[in-house]
Amino acid sequence: MSDTYPLSNLAAIDAAHHLHPFSDMKKLNADGTRIIQRGEGVHIFDSHGKKYLDGFAGLWCVNIGYGRKEIADAVAKQMNELPYYNTFFGTTSSPTTLLAEKVTSKAGPRFNHIFFTGSGSEANDTWFRMARVYWAAVGKPQKKTVIARRNGYHGSTVAGASLGGMKYMHEQGDLPIPGIVHIGQPYWYGEGGDLTPAEFGLKVARELEAKIDELGEENVAAFVAEPIQGAAGVIIPPETYWPEIDRICKARNILLVTDEVICGFGRLGEWFGHQYFGVEPDFAPIAKGLSSGYLPIGGVLVSDRIADVLINEVGDFNHGFTYSGHPVCAAAALENLRIIEEEKLVERVRDDIGLYFAKKWGALAEHDFVGEAESIGLMGGLQLAADKKTRTRFEKPDPIGSLVRNHALANGLVLRATGDRMLASPPLVIRHEEVDEMARIAKLALDAAW
Ligand code: PLP
Repeated sequence: MSDTYPLSNLAAIDAAHHLHPFSDMKKLNADGTRIIQRGEGVHIFDSHGKKYLDGFAGLWCVNIGYGRKEIADAVAKQMNELPYYNTFFGTTSSPTTLLAEKVTSKAGPRFNHIFFTGSGSEANDTWFRMARVYWAAVGKPQKKTVIARRNGYHGSTVAGASLGGMKYMHEQGDLPIPGIVHIGQPYWYGEGGDLTPAEFGLKVARELEAKIDELGEENVAAFVAEPIQGAAGVIIPPETYWPEIDRICKARNILLVTDEVICGFGRLGEWFGHQYFGVEPDFAPIAKGLSSGYLPIGGVLVSDRIADVLINEVGDFNHGFTYSGHPVCAAAALENLRIIEEEKLVERVRDDIGLYFAKKWGALAEHDFVGEAESIGLMGGLQLAADKKTRTRFEKPDPIGSLVRNHALANGLVLRATGDRMLASPPLVIRHEEVDEMARIAKLALDAAW
């Protein structure tokens, strides 16, 4: 690659021309961009040849690991055969249609249809409109408001960022847009007070019922949440939370949306997060692990209840993207799913490596400044705490996590930090000895930070 793209002054060119997502550009330009050159398995290599264990799978997405030639071959074949065609005007391509069949076959009996998008954000925009179209078609056009959660993350488009509950995003661009309201998050460690996790899980789930009462059931279209909050810090809800949410949505005739952009495609040891928690959503936006990030593709799984109305009552649904069902992205996704199936990666996470990871990651809770270290499958969150006995958080959480992250990085491990929480989501192909290495460096980084 370095032959194709000379490296000598790439950082300077980047500073001069490239605006990065979610970045303080002045600071980034001063620090200098890291240039990632190549990847192999769970490792990435930067332009200085330094090797890192990628404990974050890129951005929660490289589920099958880096450097899979099978994907490159499938992409090249499709690229040569048909690089692009649209799905708007009565047309499709083979990989697109076969992918629709394959993905829905993994999502349980309630899902038989998918609407393709280019990203997770677009997937969230898509169900947001589809939900309102659905309610209008069944004679309840006033059912428009969507209830979401504080500190949820559903993308960066205007609707996605509005559905998300990140204050720092709402502050930029005057969000949320009308018709979206937020309730609390099931973050027991930070907000549970004297309640047990089980009591707290019920309490925050019942905020949904209270909000429906306040708004009037006849005005509420849907409730959206990630099965496990990712960007907020891998916040695993108490066991009581999801069953109560599922009950409330059914009892009050509110559509349930589980945002599976991170949890989908094996991360929790099931194909989808809603299967892990045993709930029955009406929509499930997906992306990331659908192609393991090799090419951009997303979609919304649409339950039969909605699809029947959309197909038989609505007529034109005036929505779509140039890259909806892009044939080359679909070919990459199909091959990715073939690999996940063939290598039994979902089962591997459930029965083997996820359990091993839980043991090793969980042991980090023994550290003096770790309040808890939890995981499901290969998605782990770790709470840094000033006093673990009293569950006291650091007064200023922001630099604490970054400090640990930077120490880990210096020692060759990529972890993400969000305030006072550390986040891990390694590729599903990670080996036992690589989990050991992750835990070893994470402990080293925790020790170095104090
Ligand atoms: N939903 C969730 C739960 C996510 O974590 C993300 C991205 O991290 C998105 C939606 C947005 O996906 P994308 O960045 O592909 O638009």
